[in-house]
Amino acid sequence: MSEPTKLETIAASYGIAFDREFGAVAPPIYLSSTFAFAGYEHSGTHEYSRVSNPSRALLAEALARLEGGAGAVVTASGMAAIDLVLSLLRQGDLVLAPRDCYGGTYRLLAARAERGHFDLAFVDQGDAAALEEALGRSPRLVFVETPSNPLMRVSDIRAIADKAHAAGAQVVVDNTFLSPALQRPIAYGADFVVHSTTKYINGHSDVVGGAVIAAAAPDVEQLSAWANIAGTAGAPFDAYLTLRGLRTLFARLERQQANAMAVATFLAAQPGVAAVHYPGLESDPGHALAATQQQGFGAMLSFELRGGTEAVRHFVEAVEVFTLAESLGGIESLVAHPATMTHAGMGSEARHAAGISDNLLRLSVGLEAETDLIADLSRALVAAERGAGAKNGPRGNGAV
Ligand SMILES: *Cc1c(COP(=O)(O)O)cnc(C)c1O
Repeated sequence: MSEPTKLETIAASYGIAFDREFGAVAPPIYLSSTFAFAGYEHSGTHEYSRVSNPSRALLAEALARLEGGAGAVVTASGMAAIDLVLSLLRQGDLVLAPRDCYGGTYRLLAARAERGHFDLAFVDQGDAAALEEALGRSPRLVFVETPSNPLMRVSDIRAIADKAHAAGAQVVVDNTFLSPALQRPIAYGADFVVHSTTKYINGHSDVVGGAVIAAAAPDVEQLSAWANIAGTAGAPFDAYLTLRGLRTLFARLERQQANAMAVATFLAAQPGVAAVHYPGLESDPGHALAATQQQGFGAMLSFELRGGTEAVRHFVEAVEVFTLAESLGGIESLVAHPATMTHAGMGSEARHAAGISDNLLRLSVGLEAETDLIADLSRALVAAERGAGAKNGPRGNGAV
């Protein structure tokens, strides 16, 4: 039988009905920590679950196929996946990372660099001259996050990969915001793709997990070896749930990004909104690039409220369909305030340098009815305006 090549088919059916013993259609879960040897000096396919495990292997194979890589390592979290890539570095190696990357990535990179594990420079990857200058310093690894978090800036993976390779560096793309359903960085030259599978891949906000997919087999080997040495692997039960979530990835994203487009269009027309960051909008600076590099615009967006932090506070307290929470990519809609939540650890100076203002809100748009989402935002915008006004004007004037 030929292997399916359509990505939707891989997501929906990888590992289905592979059980030879009972013909189970849903792949069974293997919780065993250890596996019997066939005999003296003869281990079976699996030996010990820190090294490898059938449930984890199935998810890793599905992800590697979806991303078009040679293999994957499934880790306990997205941060563990990023840290696993960092294990390839030696003292003195230079890492280039985007200024407005995920707050946890920023913290991990900065903390390891501070301890002398490698050298680190943050660059604005949209600034060609700054990137060129940084690449002139012979980096070992270039991190790319596109679209970026939380400003949804789109970076040209192929252009960065070409330049990075010419400078002798390998390229890591954090593909968490889009998933392989909407973007496949290896096809554009990335050497590694990292995921927080916590987000779209699992998609149900009930697992924390991660994965690294490598384009080249020797890199898969190195990463697998280190994951075993350091004990980075994810739990079999989490792998089972994540594979279950992966089945519906394409269907979820299709619907969620349609909702996101409706929400972005609505927000862009509101007087209380100073700016909307969503590459799906034709007015967005990343629109043209996203339209060529991505298969869709995704379901993440951010926007800036007028009226300062009082408006922000009233807005997030008024939403009912959206939940005020960190994380993203689940079936439910979430709103986050990067300055006090996801990106608080960056410190205000680095945040402002990256363009993350205190009145920026990030939305992860879920599967609810579009009309309910927009009615909720509409209500919260009224509350935000009233809240911001109350601070300046007399209280309780009953406006609205
Ligand atoms: C959440 C996230 C991470 C970290 O993943 P965890 O699973 O929370 O450890 C890394 N990168 C991006 C873009 C994320 O959104």
